[in-house]
Amino acid sequence: MELFSSEIESRLHSNNDNPFFILNVNDIRTKIKKWKQTIPRAIPYYAVKCNDNELVLKVLAENGTGFDCASKNEISKVLKLGVDCEKIIYSNTVKQISHLKYAAKMMVQKVTFDSVEELEKIKAFHPNAQVVLRIRFDSNNSIVNLGTKFGCDPVKTAPKLIELCQKMNMNLIGLHFHVGSWNRNYEIFTQALATIRKLFNFAETCSIKLNFIDIGGGFIGEDLLLLDLYAKSINAGINDNFPSDKIKIISEPGRFFVDSAFKLVTQIILKKLDEEDGRIHYYLNESIYMSFMATFLYNLKPLTSVIKRSKGKNDFAEEKLSTIWGCSCNSNDKIVDNVMLREMEMGDWLVFHNMGAYTLSVSTKFNGFQNNEVLVIDEERQTEY
Ligand SMILES: *Cc1c(COP(=O)(O)O)cnc(C)c1O
Repeated sequence: MELFSSEIESRLHSNNDNPFFILNVNDIRTKIKKWKQTIPRAIPYYAVKCNDNELVLKVLAENGTGFDCASKNEISKVLKLGVDCEKIIYSNTVKQISHLKYAAKMMVQKVTFDSVEELEKIKAFHPNAQVVLRIRFDSNNSIVNLGTKFGCDPVKTAPKLIELCQKMNMNLIGLHFHVGSWNRNYEIFTQALATIRKLFNFAETCSIKLNFIDIGGGFIGEDLLLLDLYAKSINAGINDNFPSDKIKIISEPGRFFVDSAFKLVTQIILKKLDEEDGRIHYYLNESIYMSFMATFLYNLKPLTSVIKRSKGKNDFAEEKLSTIWGCSCNSNDKIVDNVMLREMEMGDWLVFHNMGAYTLSVSTKFNGFQNNEVLVIDEERQTEY
């Protein structure tokens, strides 16, 4: 079992039986440091949608990252932290007009697009924008393929849109791609950057001098060492194709920065035995409508362990076939199915690891449950936030 701070210990022993998150701030700092060391040319612009917890945004901002925002509220949240508008990219290729106008008003200049129609919209409502063309470049090994919805074909369509920018007198500054979330094809970045190089060359033939590249997100955040694999491919792509420092390169990691920084602590509120097949059904005070939405959508297998027993030690309990259900009134609300787990009891507290990405930010209030409190561990800072 893990050791926790006295605050967390006392929370577990209190009458408060709501689930909660534990945020380890140093985990985020370590990630930022590692990114700067291994991929120094691709400055991270954190994807706010992944986890918009204010402390997360603050720590990232303090450590010099920029931000990828997708809506008016995300932009305003980041600006309120005192982040310079230069350090924001409005990276949603489908923008609501009022949000686009807001970006223009707040001087958020970098905006992405992938179609004629969106370019026309930008021309009408944010004519001085620095536009960034998103091309499609899909990983064959990710859990969310963004290319089915975003990005134009780099061969058939991108050159036409580049030419069109010139005709429409739009300030095209560069190109962008996102290979897909939770990408395990580490080598893809070298290929993507070679494709971007070709489009840079094409743009030059249209007298457009591009100087900006956005390599998107998709980086797995559970294992810090994986970043070395991504780095090898990204750095090779950059060194081969864009050796000059004059080309500004950014990235948009979301899950990489937050995934392992958050643990979710949740309680078994009921245990039922199926007498027929011996299976045990556990019910948690959490749900697929709260922190397990991504687990459900992408069929992930969350890692869990018991952190506090309701009835003393039970480390030698037998493993039994188990199902863990969520607390909503939907019968699809199943968190873990068909696994062998050491027998647990009602009242036991479980911890789920790597719960920072697409958990808090997608949590709903379905069935009247509240969003979880976040307890903070920060070994570097003594003052209260
Ligand atoms: C979601 C998203 C990201 C972040 O993706 P991760 O897989 O969490 O790194 C970055 N850029 C854009 C445009 C996105 O939509």
